[in-house]
Amino acid sequence: RKPSYKWQRVLLKVSGEALAGDNAQNIDPKVTMAIAREVASVTRLGVEVAIVVGGGNIFRGSTWAGCSGLDRSSADYIGMMATVMNAIFLQATMESIGIPTRVQTAFRMSEVAEPYIRRRAIRHLEKGRVVIFAAGTGNPFFTTDTAAALRCAEINAEVVLKATNVNGVYDKDPRQNSDARLLDTLSYQDVITKELSVMDLTAITLCQENNIPVVVFNLNEEGNISRAIQGERVGTIIGG
Ligand code: UDP
Repeated sequence: RKPSYKWQRVLLKVSGEALAGDNAQNIDPKVTMAIAREVASVTRLGVEVAIVVGGGNIFRGSTWAGCSGLDRSSADYIGMMATVMNAIFLQATMESIGIPTRVQTAFRMSEVAEPYIRRRAIRHLEKGRVVIFAAGTGNPFFTTDTAAALRCAEINAEVVLKATNVNGVYDKDPRQNSDARLLDTLSYQDVITKELSVMDLTAITLCQENNIPVVVFNLNEEGNISRAIQGERVGTIIGG
């Protein structure tokens, strides 16, 4: 089964912020359904899709650490559990339209999801199932972007597709500069030295060391997820 698209196995990173859409209740079902429909269209074409979900729409450890004695590790564990909530929501949405989907968590929550087992995740993908990786890396002090880079390398996916609320990476902040230019391509080193807030340094370094390209694109534009998954040019591609 060799599809004629650029990517055969992709790691889609969906941030919590993107899942929130414009719904005050943390998760916007319109957004999860749009993601499910687009992922469905590409899995039917034979592309294998793994997803890492963020949790920032519910809880971000760094924001809460230090509040009333809450230490960073505890705050981060709450953040990781927030990603599990998003993962279960997304799984239910996917399955409601007929996409077999498994959630694997980085720490055991075996009543609600499978534990992360690399070989089993790969097997699910080979069978055409979508795998959602939840609970980040399972370690405090990391981010779900780092989890995306890590899982991508582990399961031999070819690219990290980072779905965000912006069109890609700009040469300066587009909210403050009307002449900001959207960049088509960017090197890892540019991201690191120019401190562009695309991904945290741990995540981008992991991608660089493993030659994993990263595509940053806007989730809110209809069709963009499937375009990105099928290897069409969208947003900004980081590599080289
Ligand atoms: N988190 C963590 N370790 C990980 C991944 C995530 O401790 O490997 C925690 C951290 O507190 C983070 C929260 O989970 O703030 C939600 O993840 P993230 O902020 O990466 O989500 P996103 O920005 O993508 O919504």
